Amino acid sequence: MGNKKPVPPLDQVGLIIIGTGAALFYYYLEKTIQTGQNISVFITMGIILLISLCTQLLINSINRSKSALAEANENLEMKVKERTTELRESEMKYRTIFENTGAATVIVETDGTISLANSEFVAISGYEKKDIENKKSWLNFIDKKTHRRLLNDKVFSGREHGTNWEAKNFECEFFDNDNNKKDILCTLSPIPGTDKSVVYLADITELKKAERQIYHQAFHDTLTDLPNRALFMEILNMAIRRSRRRADYHFAVLYLDIDRFKLVNDSLGHNVGDKLLIAFANRIKDSLRDIDTLARFGGDEFVILLEDIESDDYASGVAKRLQQELKRPFMVGGKEVFALASFGVVSNTIDYAQAENIIRDADAAMYHAKENGKAQYKVFDKKLHKKAMHLLQRETDLRKAIHINQFENHYQPIVDLKTASLVGFEALIRWNHPQLGLIYPGSFISIAEETGLIIPITRLVVEAACNDLQKWQEQLGDQINLSMNVNISIKHFLLPSFLDDIQAILDKTGLDPNRLKLEITETALMEDADDTIRLVNRLKDYDLQLVIDDFGTGYSSLSYLQRLPIDTLKVDRSFVSRIRNEPDGNRNIVEAIISLAHRLDMIVVAEGVETQEQYAILLEMNCQLGQGKLFSMPMNKKAVDELIQNILHFYQQHPDQLYPLADMLSN
Ligand code: C2E
Ligand code: MG
Ligand code: MG
Repeated sequence: MGNKKPVPPLDQVGLIIIGTGAALFYYYLEKTIQTGQNISVFITMGIILLISLCTQLLINSINRSKSALAEANENLEMKVKERTTELRESEMKYRTIFENTGAATVIVETDGTISLANSEFVAISGYEKKDIENKKSWLNFIDKKTHRRLLNDKVFSGREHGTNWEAKNFECEFFDNDNNKKDILCTLSPIPGTDKSVVYLADITELKKAERQIYHQAFHDTLTDLPNRALFMEILNMAIRRSRRRADYHFAVLYLDIDRFKLVNDSLGHNVGDKLLIAFANRIKDSLRDIDTLARFGGDEFVILLEDIESDDYASGVAKRLQQELKRPFMVGGKEVFALASFGVVSNTIDYAQAENIIRDADAAMYHAKENGKAQYKVFDKKLHKKAMHLLQRETDLRKAIHINQFENHYQPIVDLKTASLVGFEALIRWNHPQLGLIYPGSFISIAEETGLIIPITRLVVEAACNDLQKWQEQLGDQINLSMNVNISIKHFLLPSFLDDIQAILDKTGLDPNRLKLEITETALMEDADDTIRLVNRLKDYDLQLVIDDFGTGYSSLSYLQRLPIDTLKVDRSFVSRIRNEPDGNRNIVEAIISLAHRLDMIVVAEGVETQEQYAILLEMNCQLGQGKLFSMPMNKKAVDELIQNILHFYQQHPDQLYPLADMLSN
């Protein structure tokens, strides 16, 4: 605050003069009265003095007011100065904040014109500051769609800056001077008390990229980058909805499965397998139109959606064309590999309301195509639908059958060809269906395998077989040693619990593990080569033996066989049925199989021996064991009970002789 201003010295002097004047006036007035002179001069002088005094007092008062005014003025100036400093500081503060919002920030007018832009905005815009402020609308930087939407929503024009007006957040695309694109998160807030707004533009390009990547991964197969099942189902559902809206819109679905793909994986490795899948996907994709969708459902399964097709035949035409394309080999890992595929086609999609059902039927059609001998295509039709329903019914029946055990084992004798004596049996399952009578395994084993029901079924078969053999062996004593062959599905065999399952049955029935032989078909063994080798090697720990069934149909390689500790090899019936005494091709093949097996220390069983001629030839070829109609077809348990009794009876009468099996059976 300022100091008090002193009263001007002239005013003091004025007062002294007036005081002195007054004293002189009084002195002379008294003198005049004493001397009796005229006093009118003095009265005039007195009035003058009084006026001077009043004037002087007035001046003094004015001077004091002036001084107070000056002081007040000075105070005011001080205050203004302080406010100005405060304002400047405040503006500096807001400018600093504006400049350092961490985002490109602009202050905009109601029409979008930028009145102020921070350096970050200037940097991302690609313009100079002078070309932006008061010259450009920030809306010119964002994508047209958002631009239109904002104008429609009247976000700027005509809005009132009331207290209720809230900040708006939205994502948009930002284009700089060179038309480079960025993803931006905008926050638009009104500035209270003005009709301006502040707009923050945060660069979220990286975030959006990551978001898109995550989205892409969720809906695409990582190996081939094709749409995955989830995305395909979405697209297929859209096609269904479209076909409902538009009578002229038709679509079809193809389900593809590469034939014998597992063989490629097992023999050439997963790396080559992966490369083959990529090459396969590319070739199929290149053969389709842009509007069609190819998706990978996992493994070697692919699905195609053909859109806007003119006729139902179109899809079959595509299947044929694609199969033609696949006849050319693929070059992967420096090797030529073939990848033929089986196709299931659903071309009449009118009646479908759900994508899942189309896929189910396309899959079923593909399955039938495979059954028909691979590299085929099958169109799903009414017949197939009926068949599918039938299979469903069979599965339901099968579940019930397991529950109440409607199964029984039949046993086919296995014979030593040299002595024509019994060495054991093969257990073959039969299903006593309450309505359909005895059903053979050919009609239900594959469904059981597909549904996993083969596992409880195998347990029932193996347990009954072990029980029965244990009982027969106890009756026979040491005189005859029999073994029991059981058929095992590879799916069950490869389960980690398999060996424990078998062990539990052996423990329960008390059968010597040496007497149990596990038959696995050659085809199944080939399909899961690596896993099989690992497991087969563990069999020895359990004293179990492995028999390779239906040999000759699975195209095993010699080196593969050498790696497996297999005890017995069964030559498939199809080879045995064609051996005759003439030195034709088939005889040579069977001879080669037998000598190969012998070299690998395996015992050979000939399956389906039906004639004496075949028997004689097999003997000539040194085939040790046989099984077939010539000796006996599979018999029920009661028949085997009788056979055992006959053998025992024979031994009691002829302890030193070998029993003639044929005689025993005919009884
Ligand atoms: P497989 O293991 O090769 O069994 C031999 C099949 O050939 C049996 O058919 C048998 O009845 C038949 N057979 C034997 N000798 C002759 C002959 O001289 N001539 C002719 N024409 N046929 C003969 P089945 O019992 O119908 O069994 C068929 C297949 O079902 C079996 O072939 C086996 O792979 C499978 N199977 C049978 N039982 C089971 C089982 O319990 N579990 C599994 N997983 N599969 C089984
Ligand atoms: Mg068998
Ligand atoms: Mg067989």
